[in-house]
Amino acid sequence: MSIIVENLTKKYGEQKAVNDISFKIETGEVVGFLGPNGAGKSTTMKMITCFMAPTIGNITVDDISVNENQSLIKKKIGYLPENNPLYFDMSIVDYLRFTAEIQGVSKTDIPGRIGEMIELCGLVREKHKNINELSKGFRQRVGLAQAMIHDPEVLILDEPTTGLDPNQIVEIRKLIKELGKQKTVILSSHILSEVEATCDRILIINRGRIVADGTSETLRSQADDQELLTVHITPLNEELETSLLGLGSVEKVSAIEDKPGFYSIQSKPNMESRKAIFDLCVKQKWYLLEMTGIETRLEDVFRDLTN
Ligand code: ADP
Ligand code: MG
Repeated sequence: MSIIVENLTKKYGEQKAVNDISFKIETGEVVGFLGPNGAGKSTTMKMITCFMAPTIGNITVDDISVNENQSLIKKKIGYLPENNPLYFDMSIVDYLRFTAEIQGVSKTDIPGRIGEMIELCGLVREKHKNINELSKGFRQRVGLAQAMIHDPEVLILDEPTTGLDPNQIVEIRKLIKELGKQKTVILSSHILSEVEATCDRILIINRGRIVADGTSETLRSQADDQELLTVHITPLNEELETSLLGLGSVEKVSAIEDKPGFYSIQSKPNMESRKAIFDLCVKQKWYLLEMTGIETRLEDVFRDLTN
């Protein structure tokens, strides 16, 4: 049950919201679309779920093309759209029955499926309430329940935790992780920690293009070929910064705010500066009080790629 996206482009008028992207998702992967607002995440999801046709390109879900059999693809996919549209004047049970019928769940299976979803999504105490009586977090659970009612093999969740409080976020993430053990999941988010906490693999999307693809470790290590150091040197002097910058291996030197004598030093790609910094201090008779390597943060990678 793989999802293959080939040279996908979506134009709104002249604007390319999605610009020639290709990727493949294998059965059982939990993949995060990470990117700033307007990157093209929702548009890509709408095309995979057959709610919108590609301008150019093709998508196949389990070898079925979105240009061929959309209703079959819709049956294989559970979709939580952005803004989670629900019918507010229905009770949870009625709404889930309605979506189950639309998804073609057989009449005899419907009560059982509703019961399972209510259990799985933690809606037992709320089940007879109308949707308009529910808090945002519980509405989101109803959105997840409707996405899964027909037991699809693939779940596509567009910003599943927006608008939730921190406790609800933890709960929903836990639920997604649990679901990911059995299903292929694609979720989108503009929050890095969210994607890192729930996904095996991250696709960073920016301005309609995929700018990175990998696990959080591989993304971090791609950036790691640029060594980052913090040094503390005394006495304070005017030559310090220029001398450090003068070292052949150093690309960038920035004084650390509110900490006189502390500098953050970035080496050129695949070069290292520790020994040269030490030698420089010896030569100038400066004291090197501290020198530590900093691990590249995923935030930095994300910022670099999407700025
Ligand atoms: P994301 O989900 O990553 O925030 P979207 O896919 O919603 O991004 O949007 C990508 C770009 O396409 C944005 O610039 C957005 O303004 C534009 N866009 C989205 N939907 C429409 C639409 N229906 N008509 C015109 N432009 C749209
Ligand atoms: Mg969106």
